[in-house]
Amino acid sequence: MHIAVYPGSFDPITNGHLDIIRRAAGLVDKLYIAVLVNKQKKCMFTPQERVGFIEQAVEGIINVEVVSYDGLLVEFCKKVNAKAIIKGLRVITDYESEAQMALINKKIEPDIETVLLVATENYSFISSSIIKELASYGSDISEMVPTHVQEAIVKKWREES
Ligand code: ADP
Repeated sequence: MHIAVYPGSFDPITNGHLDIIRRAAGLVDKLYIAVLVNKQKKCMFTPQERVGFIEQAVEGIINVEVVSYDGLLVEFCKKVNAKAIIKGLRVITDYESEAQMALINKKIEPDIETVLLVATENYSFISSSIIKELASYGSDISEMVPTHVQEAIVKKWREES
């Protein structure tokens, strides 16, 4: 059984993330989406909210499971018996940090491989932070995130302003 983990903050999930999820789910028997709980990083949504948004977005993809984790990614991978970490590469500047993380993870756990999937062209400019910024100016983000996520972001900005 081929098991992989797709980790990230997913604050919140975008159509770019979803594209990677669909493509990765097609490559393995089981894909865990691991939502990083990082107390240092200030997120717009709680880990529970982020998990909930992803669960709603991946409904129907049967080999995907969404979980939150804190601690070392490779430890989580070992726990669920995953042999691969999936990451998305948008622009060449992503490569530097992704390659560094891949090398560190390989050093800690040589049996786990990092697999980098190149973003689909139409999604390569999308990031969670860009979407939050656009939404804060009232821009239309409907083509970049699932509808339920769009509604949640708009609601959040209304509450905060
Ligand atoms: P971000 O805040 O940069 O969107 P995340 O931690 O949520 O970052 O991203 C998790 C993973 O998904 C990373 O490997 C990142 O490169 C990838 N990713 C994020 N957005 C996209 C996209 N639009 N297309 C492909 N991969 C993406």
